[in-house]
Amino acid sequence: MTVANDVLRRVLGESLSDQHIAVIDQLTEPQYDEDVAESLGIKATIIRTLLNDLHENSLVEYHRTKNKKTGWYTYKWVRREDRIKKHIQDHLSQKISMLQEQLEQENNGLSFKCNCGIVDYHNAMENMFICQSCGSAYKRYEDGKAVDGIVQQITEINSILQSIAE
Ligand SMILES: [Zn+2]
Repeated sequence: MTVANDVLRRVLGESLSDQHIAVIDQLTEPQYDEDVAESLGIKATIIRTLLNDLHENSLVEYHRTKNKKTGWYTYKWVRREDRIKKHIQDHLSQKISMLQEQLEQENNGLSFKCNCGIVDYHNAMENMFICQSCGSAYKRYEDGKAVDGIVQQITEINSILQSIAE
């Protein structure tokens, strides 16, 4: 899978950075880090850091060769097509878990309001949503915007995940 799709590029840019994507784009064929640096006009030291990040995420691999004269090793890097999709899926799944946790917290933190005060969800539930003091019904105190926002994000991410699942 190439990183051609805009949505997937955005996800990858979010989990890593746009510079990482630029490096991945360069590595259609095995290349030395200096070559990548020259093509992108970025310092080789920065390119090496980016390559190491990508390697930690298993998105690139390298072939090492020893220079017989100097005894130094040189590295040729290439991207791992097979891992890119998995990386995106993992990132999105992790994001969904985080949002679900947030959603649970939002729901646990719901407040209810009657004519005389505000109580938490458990309190309102115990009294069957009628205040024992003033006799009025408890109503949701928040406007629910936070919850709606989280639900919307979960739905969006889920549809991306479904679109790349085979
Ligand atoms: Zn009341």
